[in-house]
Amino acid sequence: MYGNRTLALLALAALAGFYSPINAAAAEVAAKVATDSATGVVSLTRKGAWHLAESSNFQVCSLRGAKEAQDVAVGCERLRNEVATLCGLQPGHWSPRCQIVLHVDAKSYVATVGHAGAATAASALTQRSGARINRRKIDVRGDVSDYLTSALPHELCHVLLADRFADVPLWCDEGLALLLDPLDKQQLHERDLRSGDQRGELMPINELFGLQRYPAAERWGLFYGQSASIVRCLLQRGTPQQLLAFAKAQRSLGTNKALREVYGLSGVAELDRHWRSRLASPSDAPLTLVTFAASPTPFSAVAEAP
Ligand SMILES: [Zn+2]
Repeated sequence: MYGNRTLALLALAALAGFYSPINAAAAEVAAKVATDSATGVVSLTRKGAWHLAESSNFQVCSLRGAKEAQDVAVGCERLRNEVATLCGLQPGHWSPRCQIVLHVDAKSYVATVGHAGAATAASALTQRSGARINRRKIDVRGDVSDYLTSALPHELCHVLLADRFADVPLWCDEGLALLLDPLDKQQLHERDLRSGDQRGELMPINELFGLQRYPAAERWGLFYGQSASIVRCLLQRGTPQQLLAFAKAQRSLGTNKALREVYGLSGVAELDRHWRSRLASPSDAPLTLVTFAASPTPFSAVAEAP
């Protein structure tokens, strides 16, 4: 999503004034059942108006019912595995679990994530205490019918990358997550990239690799388009594991040395030439959609939950 980290900070500020299903002092456990499923046991509880479903790695909070919470928890477990595999990650057990809050409408969602997220359907937040992650949370607009397939893969990618990196490079964090977006969203980013290229506004790769903060809002489109394009380019040269190794080495060794060690490129100038030649031949690397259809039960089936 646009301005993921910015939204995370806004969410933190906003949360103080809003009901938090996990911290409610007057929490009332009204029911608890355990359900076997293909992905493990999901326990169901009530806290006030919230229905909570806990699986191994998720706590899903729904105001609409236990069935929705349970179905999303089961779907998220499978999705976590699929996204991790696609991104070359081997995640351990999440403790604390990742809390998924399903907001009933845009008003509730924006009240939590802030107005900068008004055009988005989900927003991820991770907080650390030293080296340890002490909070994982994804706010989701539960009234958006396809959020499980259109928004959660992207946000789960951010949460998964936070396990691997204490400070994941922005270009890698967003560039990889964007490749999990639906094809129509990816095409919009590709359009932003190409129009930026025509205007001569693309960021030098070194500058993109060195970004520590999101650029100004008017440059988000270009930043997202360019980050996705560079990640796609690197994934054509090597594995997802190489991409992550490069992102890590880039910080410690510098971009040129990391490119040599991980990809055998002479440096950023050669990567730039390679990437720009791809831009000049769009048919060389058509956008492709990452699907999650390999599961025994298609993930889309979960999206039909209440
Ligand atoms: Zn994002």
